[in-house]
Amino acid sequence: MALPPITKNEDQKRNVRASFVPPIPDKTEPARIFPRFRSVLYKVGTTRYNPLIMTSFTQFDILATLQATLTEKGLTKPTHIQERAIPVLLGGRSIVGIAETGSGKTLAYALPILHKLKSLELTGDAIKENGQPRAVIIVPTRELGEQVSKVFKPFTHTTRIRVRTVLGGTALEVAKKNIAAPFEVLVATPGRIVKLLDRGLISFSDVRTLVFDEADQMLDQGFLPDANKIVAACPEARQLALFSATVSGSVQSLITRLFGDAEVIRSDGSKRLVATLKTENLEVIDGKRFPLLDRLLKKPVTGGTMIFTNTRIQCDKLVLELKKSGRTCVIYRGEMDKIERRNNLKLFRDGKIELLVSTDLASRGLDLEHVGRVINYHLPQQIENYIHRAGRTARAGRKGLVVNLVTERDEALLTQVSKIQHR
Ligand code: ADP
Ligand code: MG
Repeated sequence: MALPPITKNEDQKRNVRASFVPPIPDKTEPARIFPRFRSVLYKVGTTRYNPLIMTSFTQFDILATLQATLTEKGLTKPTHIQERAIPVLLGGRSIVGIAETGSGKTLAYALPILHKLKSLELTGDAIKENGQPRAVIIVPTRELGEQVSKVFKPFTHTTRIRVRTVLGGTALEVAKKNIAAPFEVLVATPGRIVKLLDRGLISFSDVRTLVFDEADQMLDQGFLPDANKIVAACPEARQLALFSATVSGSVQSLITRLFGDAEVIRSDGSKRLVATLKTENLEVIDGKRFPLLDRLLKKPVTGGTMIFTNTRIQCDKLVLELKKSGRTCVIYRGEMDKIERRNNLKLFRDGKIELLVSTDLASRGLDLEHVGRVINYHLPQQIENYIHRAGRTARAGRKGLVVNLVTERDEALLTQVSKIQHR
């Protein structure tokens, strides 16, 4: 979306000190930014800078082949987390990047990794051994692993950087086969990777960069001992990266323990709901939740609808009610057949089925472009879960709607929600 050119007055209105405003590279071209970044000031250390002035990917010292793929994909301007994180990672430093949902955190680490690994190869230091990756990305679920490797994919055609996956929900034999060759990048879930490390089937002795993506979700699942093991298997000089939209207590303890010397980049927006998100609260009267949802679903929206419940039982019960009322939906929750779960997500992702009913398992990380509406059939108790659920829509500057079915028990949460609403 083209936005009007930035005037000095607008800068002044936002109280940006002129000395920190970088020059506009090309004054003839109007600034194009995601609308939701418009009023957000990002804090990096003590420096404040103006997010209105977007730069271009060409400012980064990355290989021409990567630049070409970015152009081909229509990606011209980095998002703010990309703008801040890419130079840090290219410079070899460790990083903690906390930025709002849908702000492009994946590419923020994928580009520096691709650049560094291809550069090593170009200088004659190519990988020759089987099962010895140079970059490892740890993800909480199989679906997120597949999503991350898809982000790498277009860049691998020209660079020939090889990305392999070892993800939960697939047989260990498949994992063994996947790593029985030389390759540069490994995308893995923690449990599987610890198993392979314990059995000596994979070596992390040449790892240069280790990334924990969507760290919050992993750490909720008691992942700390696995994280320690994985880090210990890498050389001392490795670079560490952690990306998340929220920071739970356990993520904070991991950061304190392992990221002592890391650069911390936290966008102010990370604590807020995105600007393009609209919120509606509907009161549940006399416990009649389903009739309210039924009416709501009759209102058309563009794109798919994700409906969240808090427990697997609630999830199953709601699916039954929806089916009874003649609606087609798919379910996505823990402790179900992994192949079925994956197929369900695909049906929803491809827009073949418009309703996905889930627990918080689907609240983190999933980048489903077409989600136009999130419904909290049951509101979560924790604000972090609310932020992640709401973050499944209104991604990358698109519009989105979150509808909450509310009872008096939800008052405390809604007070918190009103505080993080975009101003
Ligand atoms: P996060 O991990 O921060 O939640 P993702 O990495 O999943 O976000 O990216 C969200 C969406 O934004 C993806 O569909 C991605 O293609 C898109 N995206 C990423 N970087 C850019 C960019 N620089 N310009 C436009 N879209 C982008
Ligand atoms: Mg992500």
